[in-house]
Amino acid sequence: VDPADSLVHALRRSAAQAPDRTFLAYFDARLGYREVDELSDSVAGHLVARGLRPGDRVAVLLQNSPHFVLAVLGAWKAGATVVPVNPMYKSAEVAHVLKDGEVAALICSDRAWESYLRDTAADSPVRIVLTGCELDFQTRDDARVLTFERLPQASDADDLVTVARAGHRAPEDRDPAPADVALISYTSGTSGTPKGATNTHANIMYNAERQRTGLGLPEAPVYFALAPLFHITGMVCQFGACLNSAGTLVLAYRFEAGVVLDAFAEHRPHYTVGPSTAFMALAAHPAVAPDHFSSFEVISSGGAPLPPALVEKFRAGFGPYIRNGYGLTECTAPCASVPPGREAPVDPVSGTLAVGVPGPDTVVRIVDDEGREMPFGEPGEIVVSGPQVVPGYWRRPDATAETFPGGELRTGDIGFMDEQGWLYVVDRKKDMINASGFKVWPREVEDVLYTHPAVREAAVVGVPDGYRGETVKAYISLRPGATADPDELAVYCKERLAAYKYPRQVEVLPDLPKTASGKILRRELRSRTDDD
Ligand code: ATP
Repeated sequence: VDPADSLVHALRRSAAQAPDRTFLAYFDARLGYREVDELSDSVAGHLVARGLRPGDRVAVLLQNSPHFVLAVLGAWKAGATVVPVNPMYKSAEVAHVLKDGEVAALICSDRAWESYLRDTAADSPVRIVLTGCELDFQTRDDARVLTFERLPQASDADDLVTVARAGHRAPEDRDPAPADVALISYTSGTSGTPKGATNTHANIMYNAERQRTGLGLPEAPVYFALAPLFHITGMVCQFGACLNSAGTLVLAYRFEAGVVLDAFAEHRPHYTVGPSTAFMALAAHPAVAPDHFSSFEVISSGGAPLPPALVEKFRAGFGPYIRNGYGLTECTAPCASVPPGREAPVDPVSGTLAVGVPGPDTVVRIVDDEGREMPFGEPGEIVVSGPQVVPGYWRRPDATAETFPGGELRTGDIGFMDEQGWLYVVDRKKDMINASGFKVWPREVEDVLYTHPAVREAAVVGVPDGYRGETVKAYISLRPGATADPDELAVYCKERLAAYKYPRQVEVLPDLPKTASGKILRRELRSRTDDD
């Protein structure tokens, strides 16, 4: 395969070399490489005819559907920067992104447009609107349980699929250059107000190429999009890597464990990546069977902590080994991962699973608050440099200088490196609990809770305590049909952890709050505690 310097070129190359190969599979719909190339050309031609200028921002608020792919590729072919927006965002969050990103065009579902985005966009720089219904590429009935409904086309927006099928020609002089900003990715906000990381086409191609060459997948691999495409992991490790490998991308709108398992059975994917919570949900589904996973060559978990107990339960129950990977929006998804064919060691002291080894051109350093490098095994802040690290945040020189001193990314994560070069993520710096001066890292306590057979999800936070300053509180949800007594769970942890680490309080919730990309929101659990 010739190297491509952007996903637009990768698409053109595959459209020429394998025009009829299926690129997108979405319920009953199949779109080939040439078809996607032509449809996205037409979207680009339309955007330019409507006045979109090179470098303008195009916000895309869509689920995992062909619409998302046509919107993103169309915008890139028009020379624009894409701002992927989480469709679960509420009006105020979208308004922040539209204004902060000075967004010129908005591509979204017709339902979202009617229900809140028209009002949200009214007070924003948005001048061009395309809306679509995810039913437009013929889907079968079970897709409709995923809340599809067709609305009459809004008079103040153009229909995305009509535009895509109109046969407009793509502009000839707008192809992206490697240093152009492909995405402004607003970080998912697990820790505060979203800031936009500026992922360039070169950042994306580096990680997409690493995924293509580094996983040992067959020719024309089948990818299943488990992570949402609007999140950097889905964008780069699924959409980007698949397109760069001329593979087939199976899309299923949004995560719904039963629908995902059916799609595994039907499409027999070779690869998927998702947050660990997705694997917990799949493992807890009543219909799950080892057969669902028999086609996979590699299954990766990324973007959130992976409890070692889940890896073992998954392997024992269904066969595959879940491969850990570590990354951030600011380094365009992965910067360290477990090489295929190897297994991540578990640190004997903390019980933490290694996240992987840094990629070949990536330098990971562990530093203390003064920036001094820590010896092997000693925790400090993880600092990353490499071709996937973004140049900075969109229009935030201060935050850029603080987070990227000298071009290196200060991750805000605490971790350590062992002598064999494995990287371990202890936790987020800001999530450390200080109990009577003792440092407690929530992850370590969560990892113990995950070894309990009744526990489906666990999150540990610090809560104010008159005596200790802070004390450890665990929130858990249970596996279907399981019961557990909170006191018994506290004792279970006490038997396995130092006295200051075990949770003094355990609360069972039906479900833990999560971001749309599937990460458990400790911040929300902390504020819930403040409200109590
Ligand atoms: P915000 O930056 O607003 O807090 P976010 O951090 O959730 O949002 P992302 O860029 O999606 O935004 O997530 C990156 C973070 O996810 C990392 O900093 C790290 O804390 C966590 N993470 C990613 N992969 C792993 C992993 N394999 N193990 C443990 N933690 C991980």
